[in-house]
Amino acid sequence: MTTLIRGGTVVSPTGRVQADVLIDGERVVALLAPGDTSLGSNLAASARIVIDATDKYVIPGGVDGHTHMEMPFGGTQASDTFETGTRAAAWGGTTTIIDFIVQRKGERVPDTLAAWHHKANGNCAIDYGFHQILGGVDDEALKAMDELVGEGITSFKLFMAYPGVFYSDDGQVLRAMQRAAENGSLIMMHAENGIAIDVLVAQALARGETDPINHGLTRPWETEAEATHRAIMLARLTGAPLYIVHMSAKQAVATLAQARGEGWNVFGETCPQYLYLSLEEQLGAAGFEGAKWVCSTPLRARSEGHQDELWRYLRTGGLSVVSTDHCPFCFKEQKELGIGDFSKIPNGIGGVEHRLDLIYQGVVDGQISLERWVELCSTTPARMFGLYGRKGVIEPGADADIVIYDPNGRTGIGYAKKHHMQMDYSAWEGFEIQGKVDTVLSRGSVIIRDDAYSGRAGHGQYLRRGLSQYLT
Ligand SMILES: [Zn+2]
Repeated sequence: MTTLIRGGTVVSPTGRVQADVLIDGERVVALLAPGDTSLGSNLAASARIVIDATDKYVIPGGVDGHTHMEMPFGGTQASDTFETGTRAAAWGGTTTIIDFIVQRKGERVPDTLAAWHHKANGNCAIDYGFHQILGGVDDEALKAMDELVGEGITSFKLFMAYPGVFYSDDGQVLRAMQRAAENGSLIMMHAENGIAIDVLVAQALARGETDPINHGLTRPWETEAEATHRAIMLARLTGAPLYIVHMSAKQAVATLAQARGEGWNVFGETCPQYLYLSLEEQLGAAGFEGAKWVCSTPLRARSEGHQDELWRYLRTGGLSVVSTDHCPFCFKEQKELGIGDFSKIPNGIGGVEHRLDLIYQGVVDGQISLERWVELCSTTPARMFGLYGRKGVIEPGADADIVIYDPNGRTGIGYAKKHHMQMDYSAWEGFEIQGKVDTVLSRGSVIIRDDAYSGRAGHGQYLRRGLSQYLT
């Protein structure tokens, strides 16, 4: 059961090299210099499958560390199931997702773990792991954190936003961080000042300002920057490592970058929507159209310069990871829940399929290097979330999760073009990418080839993660 990927350029965070990749079963067994005969003079003749990657890049499969399949939110749930969402991810070259188990106040953490295993087990096209959302930090939940680390769930997400839903007050944040500092796990933070935001939302609605753009206007950058600073200081106080999710405000990232400069274990993630889309152009679209781009943190004003600054931080290391925060809702009947009241619009954008393409376009545009693309989308998330060695790398012993990417291909994104997510619109309608996902392998099996999907639900396995491999 050997596969040979021949003639391509293997790209890693440290460089690019002409090499053939030999796969046996589910694992990479060798990287060979072109023409190498040490394993036989005609390896291609003995391999069961030979894939020609001439003039193409061979990269480790994408690792999306932030997705929400079937996530309950505001009386509805995200429209992609684990089956449809992981299939769409595969189309886009992502071969691992880490999704979020949701615990709300009053729910027992072990029950939520069992529920999420039940949702995902047997349904995924690609491998998957879990983070745990703690929406109700109490003595029992704190104890459960230690047990979850043993289950391979080594990161815990807290919310400084959404009072009454997922919100943790500073005391709860502090206690969870103390626990993380003890058991070696990572605290992930949704850093927005939800108490202040809820006041601004109520005041806007009282003034009759109900359109989707008000979602962004009532979550100004100060609310993100303030919460980011507070989270960093509480992490510093407790000694817990901190990973701030979906950062969109340049001022918040500046605070993070300063803390990183001090040598603290703090990391930041952004998402393609914050790099390309804006409050003026998308969230501020006429009528109710802007609901398509309601997500939190919100899309920010291009006039304030956030998008360019986020690209800069991706180049210079202020930001470490690009994830999608894939949380799709259909326009009909889901986003429409917020007609006449922007605060009722389900928060989320679907994008699990497009991350590799959208960030590759940043390479074409000169924003980041080819190597940094691989680092941001695969290697660093694998290492950040305790999967490195198996994922995020092409080397002997690693899982053969591999994407062959064609820099001479083209990808048109849009509902009637490339779109396999279970949602009735594309947040990326009309985007054109100067590159194309050519072939995708998951643990040695070809799942995308010749614009066709050949994977299956249930191929994807649960990943028991180790501790973050990024901490000093
Ligand atoms: Zn999220």
